[in-house]
Amino acid sequence: MINLTINGVKIEAEEGMTIYEAAQKAGIYIPVLCYHPDLSTFGACRVCMVEANGNLVTACRLPVEEGMEVQTNTREVQEVRLFNVELILANHNQDCQTCVRNNNCKLQEVSSFVGIDLQRMERIRRFQVETPVDDSNPFFHRDHSRCILCGICIRACEEVNGVAALDFAFRGYNTAVSVAGNKPLTESSCESCGECMERCPTGALAPVKQKTPEREVASVCPYCGVGCNIFLGVRGKQIVGVRGDKESPVNHGELCVKGRFGYDFVNHPERLQKPLIKKKGEFVEASWDEALDLVAERFKGITDKNGPNALGALSSARCSNEDNYLFQKLIRSLGTNNVDHCARL
Ligand code: SF4
Ligand code: SF4
Ligand code: SF4
Repeated sequence: MINLTINGVKIEAEEGMTIYEAAQKAGIYIPVLCYHPDLSTFGACRVCMVEANGNLVTACRLPVEEGMEVQTNTREVQEVRLFNVELILANHNQDCQTCVRNNNCKLQEVSSFVGIDLQRMERIRRFQVETPVDDSNPFFHRDHSRCILCGICIRACEEVNGVAALDFAFRGYNTAVSVAGNKPLTESSCESCGECMERCPTGALAPVKQKTPEREVASVCPYCGVGCNIFLGVRGKQIVGVRGDKESPVNHGELCVKGRFGYDFVNHPERLQKPLIKKKGEFVEASWDEALDLVAERFKGITDKNGPNALGALSSARCSNEDNYLFQKLIRSLGTNNVDHCARL
């Protein structure tokens, strides 16, 4: 363990921890924008500046040292942080009322902490770069006017999803996060997993459909055999969002495009709610008893005529393990091993 002081308080930190991590562990707040616990550190936003042994350093990158003396709130630290946040806000779209992240925005949190002076902001405010919103992706928008160039999306795409579809492009005021060739997202290698959107600290990457859930229900993604653990955001009887369960050893909070965005089918008006039986070439609604009797009768007809191996059955990855287990038991009890399962839909 390493012994150090933060704001005069003696604390212990594990070797290799950064000043920011040590402060967090000790319950001392240091503002951050480009830091994300899932990702490598970047040190670009400079709002985590602190004084360590008399020098101004970025707390998110510098490891703790034995006997280190850290101050997180000196006048100089406060001035540097304020200046850096002002620079970020100078050309930021500040129409918070229409932003989906309003009241859940890291930039709002940090601006409020450093104490932005609105009148001063009016004087130093610069033009906004006019870049159209990229709404090519059906699941989330990219709005450059709300981007703070923290690079979290770039690192998430590379380090979490291994795709590296994003990077910084252009220079100076025109610097932007872009895909190869500055094309719309849908014309890039992006897989629409939403890992970037999930971690974006502002409204620059935001879901197309956004409703705050009333409550969350723990569940398992029904799409494939990986079985990612999820929380369904629910409003009344409607699913309005999905997030991965960070505590899950299966997916550590990560999801693919199907798990994160593919929940519309649950409340879709065209979803089949009752069995259909084809009568005179037309599908007509039937009761479950009627449908199951028909299946049993047909199964019996086939096995009586051609033996049980004339039957074959396919189960679904959308069913639970228990359902799939019972299904293969049922088919084997009919005398055949012709039973399979679509591991991915
Ligand atoms: S889009 Fe979001 S995550 Fe990416 S750089 Fe901009 S603010 Fe950061
Ligand atoms: S949605 Fe996934 S693949 Fe696409 S840019 Fe974001 S992290 Fe990368
Ligand atoms: S479909 Fe995607 S989110 Fe769902 S279990 Fe499979 S990998 Fe996980």
